[in-house]
Amino acid sequence: MLSAGQVLQLVRRGSCRTRKELIELTGLSRSTVTDRVDRLIEAGYLREVNAGVSGGGRPPMMLDVDMGGRLVLAADLGAAHATVAVTDLAARPLAQEDIEVPVDRGPERVLAEVCRAFLRLLESAGLDPARVGGVGLDVPGSVNQDTGRVIRSFVMPGWDDRPIREVVGETFNVPILVENDAKAMALGEWWSAWRDSPSLLLVKVSTGIGAGIVLDGRIYRGVEEAAGNIGHVRLGDDDRVCTCGSRGCVAAVAGGHALAVRLGRTTSRDVVRLVQAGDPAAIALTQEAGRTLGVVLAAAVSLLNPGVLVLAGDMAETGEHYLTGIRESVYRRSLPYATRNLEIATGTLGRSAGVVGTAVMVAEHLLSPATVDAALNTALNTALNTGLNAP
Ligand SMILES: [Zn+2]
Repeated sequence: MLSAGQVLQLVRRGSCRTRKELIELTGLSRSTVTDRVDRLIEAGYLREVNAGVSGGGRPPMMLDVDMGGRLVLAADLGAAHATVAVTDLAARPLAQEDIEVPVDRGPERVLAEVCRAFLRLLESAGLDPARVGGVGLDVPGSVNQDTGRVIRSFVMPGWDDRPIREVVGETFNVPILVENDAKAMALGEWWSAWRDSPSLLLVKVSTGIGAGIVLDGRIYRGVEEAAGNIGHVRLGDDDRVCTCGSRGCVAAVAGGHALAVRLGRTTSRDVVRLVQAGDPAAIALTQEAGRTLGVVLAAAVSLLNPGVLVLAGDMAETGEHYLTGIRESVYRRSLPYATRNLEIATGTLGRSAGVVGTAVMVAEHLLSPATVDAALNTALNTALNTGLNAP
């Protein structure tokens, strides 16, 4: 027999929009459907809205997922900055801000800063912290999905295998999910703009280079969570030292930090500012970097044949320059029919891609049948115990 959580999925996917349709589709009795739906409404998962004027008689009440019923806190941690947001279950940001918090300060200080920012956002938006249903963080490193800990990151010294969920859980006692940044951004962009496409490849070029792959609506992680580490593909005979300790990685040649060094600057955002100001040397180097990364991306496109290749991260803000370089190499080095229907574009979400993707991931978790049924059972047991203990 279908659980309440499974009934919620039927409404979420648009299969059923009224109690009558639920009875017809599932074969459950009227009393069972009433039980499931009433519990979902009471717990804030569903709401019932008047469908308006009908052809006579009582207008049918339509069931709808209550996207505002729970809040999601999402943080996108970069090497030097973080974006923090409060969203609803549809991953729509209700409040958002950028904070300066270098990730190399270590997990305790950075996570404390992020939790303070969450609380500040909730307060400024007049939102009750008790409505927070889950927290998501994305970080510039590989993440073990079971433990929520960083496996290895070259830009996050001191984070490997350190507790993240446990620290954040001291402030927010709710489910906490941790994901790699490029993977979260890929999910955010796919969900926001390219849900019609079965596959999307996102490449994030900021300080370093990473990629995220969405296949059939799911993040593809690889056996060791290492899928998407294209920044460390080694190129021919270049011998520049990379953050990973190797030499000649594409990130050490075409990443934002590498460009900043060659231009006598410090960060990838300095490079963006130079390009935006029309500096000819910066523009030429940026296009060349795009072409260099494009060589590696051509191989990825040939392997995956994605519908969309998205450029995100700081270098996506160089206007068309980095993107033009990527396009040149990908088109020149791939079979025409692999790129015939390939869209190569900058992301639509800009710096919000990480928090949106992270929020989508948390919302999916919070609305999944297993999580919903567990939450309803906990509520039921609490009610029973309270009833038993009542005088
Ligand atoms: Zn490397």
